[in-house]
Amino acid sequence: PSALREIFVEMPSVSWDDVGGLDEAKHSIVEAVEWPIKNPEKFLQMGIKAPKGILLYGPPGTGKTLIAQAIAKESNANFISVKGPEMFSKWLGESEKAIRETFKKARQVAPCVVFFDEIDSIAAMQGMDTDSRTSERVLNQLLTEMDGLETLKDVVVIAATNRPNLLDPAIIRPGRFDRLVYVGAPDRKGRMRIFKIHTKNTPLAEDVDLENLASITDGYVGADIEAVCREAVMIALRENFDIEKIEMRHFREALKKVKPTISENIAQFYE
Ligand code: ATP
Repeated sequence: PSALREIFVEMPSVSWDDVGGLDEAKHSIVEAVEWPIKNPEKFLQMGIKAPKGILLYGPPGTGKTLIAQAIAKESNANFISVKGPEMFSKWLGESEKAIRETFKKARQVAPCVVFFDEIDSIAAMQGMDTDSRTSERVLNQLLTEMDGLETLKDVVVIAATNRPNLLDPAIIRPGRFDRLVYVGAPDRKGRMRIFKIHTKNTPLAEDVDLENLASITDGYVGADIEAVCREAVMIALRENFDIEKIEMRHFREALKKVKPTISENIAQFYE
């Protein structure tokens, strides 16, 4: 029987237009994933190897998953998403098997992006059971699979973490997750884009000023902004279910309810 109930292969529908801000992160990931998948001969001709693993790190809710989905779509690649805590909380031996099966599947459906969310949960395996070397073995299995990717091009591994400090340094050695891409909280311009993205299908009253909302939401990450937009609509509907347009005051109310993820302490942590 399979160690994983199922491995879902998706063709993501997220495109760059759905990802607000994060211009630098987008650029590095295009170079690291789209270039080699679309033009492998260029890398051969220039005598360099394409990166096998990319590590996205940064605070929660900033768009790491979105970026991974978008790059798969833009590269015309399949997408397999693996939730770290699910994969790395299995009975002894099962995690390794699940990793092997995931890579096997990825090779079958190449080009393919394999996305490991919350990769730091490998480290959290330590202390989870009596065998303290479990996490080491699981990590080794993952790294062995990545080392084996050498000849089998077209499988790229992207991992994400909110807690880069927990990662085993072995993970970021050359030939493994050797591209580190910071996915941080959006600046004012980025927040403006994200407000636009999450209100694009919402009827807005004349007085709604997204520029203003962007300028007063320092510390709000993408997921927070999405929550603000959803909350504004809910507040308006609760007030009057027949309302036709969302007004600025609904957004102001929503901002009181949804608090920013980023405080100064957290920002410093990732610097
Ligand atoms: P975590 O580390 O907690 O898994 P994450 O960084 O992977 O978070 P996502 O899952 O990509 O964050 O974001 C959650 C949701 O927040 C997205 O589905 C999207 O709706 C919204 N969101 C986050 N960042 C952005 C962004 N830059 N542009 C548009 N929407 C965003």
